[in-house]
Amino acid sequence: MEIVLQNLTKIFPGRGKSSEEVIAVNDFSFTLPDGKLVGLLGPSGCGKSTTLYMISGLQKPSAGKILFGEDDVTDLSPENRGVGLVFQNYALYPHMTVKQNILFPLQNLRGADKLSKKEMMERAYEAAKLVQIDELMERKPSELSGGQQQRVAIARALVKMPRVLLLDEPLSNLDARLRLQTREEIRRIQKETGITTIFVTHDQEEAMSISDLIVVMKLGVVQQIDEPQAVYDDPTNLFVAKFLGTPPINVLEGKVEGEKLYIGESAVMDVPGVADQEVIVGIRPEGFVLDANGPLTCKLSNVEVMGRDISVVSTHEKSLNPTVRSIINADNKVPATETVSYSLKPHKVFLFSKEDESRIRFEVK
Ligand code: ADP
Ligand code: MG
Repeated sequence: MEIVLQNLTKIFPGRGKSSEEVIAVNDFSFTLPDGKLVGLLGPSGCGKSTTLYMISGLQKPSAGKILFGEDDVTDLSPENRGVGLVFQNYALYPHMTVKQNILFPLQNLRGADKLSKKEMMERAYEAAKLVQIDELMERKPSELSGGQQQRVAIARALVKMPRVLLLDEPLSNLDARLRLQTREEIRRIQKETGITTIFVTHDQEEAMSISDLIVVMKLGVVQQIDEPQAVYDDPTNLFVAKFLGTPPINVLEGKVEGEKLYIGESAVMDVPGVADQEVIVGIRPEGFVLDANGPLTCKLSNVEVMGRDISVVSTHEKSLNPTVRSIINADNKVPATETVSYSLKPHKVFLFSKEDESRIRFEVK
């Protein structure tokens, strides 16, 4: 089912006289396509959870509308929306078995939705199978690993056959390996069930790997909505460029003169169509090509071998980060000299306005 957000806004009033109100979510409009997994990505405090709580009905928007398909659900209570919600801390009932935990939401159904004991049991086992915990049904949560507990929480969210699945940083409490495995599992379950899903995370790699679409947020304001690769390859502003990618994008001061980009005194690249101005330059680590005659010369500090690739750590006086880091195929040899010179891959170089950090585009030949 498609989810439509129309000018969704949430303002929290300030507490006490001096404190100011917080605009947690500011005029968020977006149509989530049916059956897709959308990653909601941004740093802590940017309004991800608030957005999710408004969609679930746990919080009431200050302004704007939410539609599930054709239904306006803005004023509907959480129970009547048909959403499954999974939080970061799994919040299972500790005194109940896995089976009882999963059955719990079904036991509260009333009226036309009420199920027979047999139906409830079938649904619970179906959900448990989907997340592969059907062998653990008689255990208590304390007898499960973190990853297993989180799967129970997901099964509990799925058992009511929700129209929408909302996951709020569901992997944060898991160790690195389990995080990877559980995220693949969530993707598989989402594809199998075809439930429209919103996955909240502050981890760009997680969002990139799991999402059909990514929404990048900053201070309550949506910055960019696009497919993961498009957000990485074509960021709309400096914030988005910096937020995605490991190692992060290199940021330097630059200047455009006569459609050439200068970093320091060197003209490093042609930038057709860009007016003369000072700019911020973003260069992806993979955007450097070792080139003894290349125009960008950095002071070499360190070469880190990473197997398939090598990472060259250097410094440049125009860099806005402590170091300039490039990723080079390990077939290359970095000369044992004091400096390292590069030419640049134009499609890996982005220019941003010094005024408002928005993207300044140029034609890549
Ligand atoms: P995220 O999930 O992206 O970390 P949140 O949606 O939790 O961010 O919070 C967004 C902003 O709203 C933050 O500045 C946070 O302090 C504020 N906020 C969240 N909930 C409340 C609340 N109940 N009362 C007041 N401010 C809140
Ligand atoms: Mg949050």
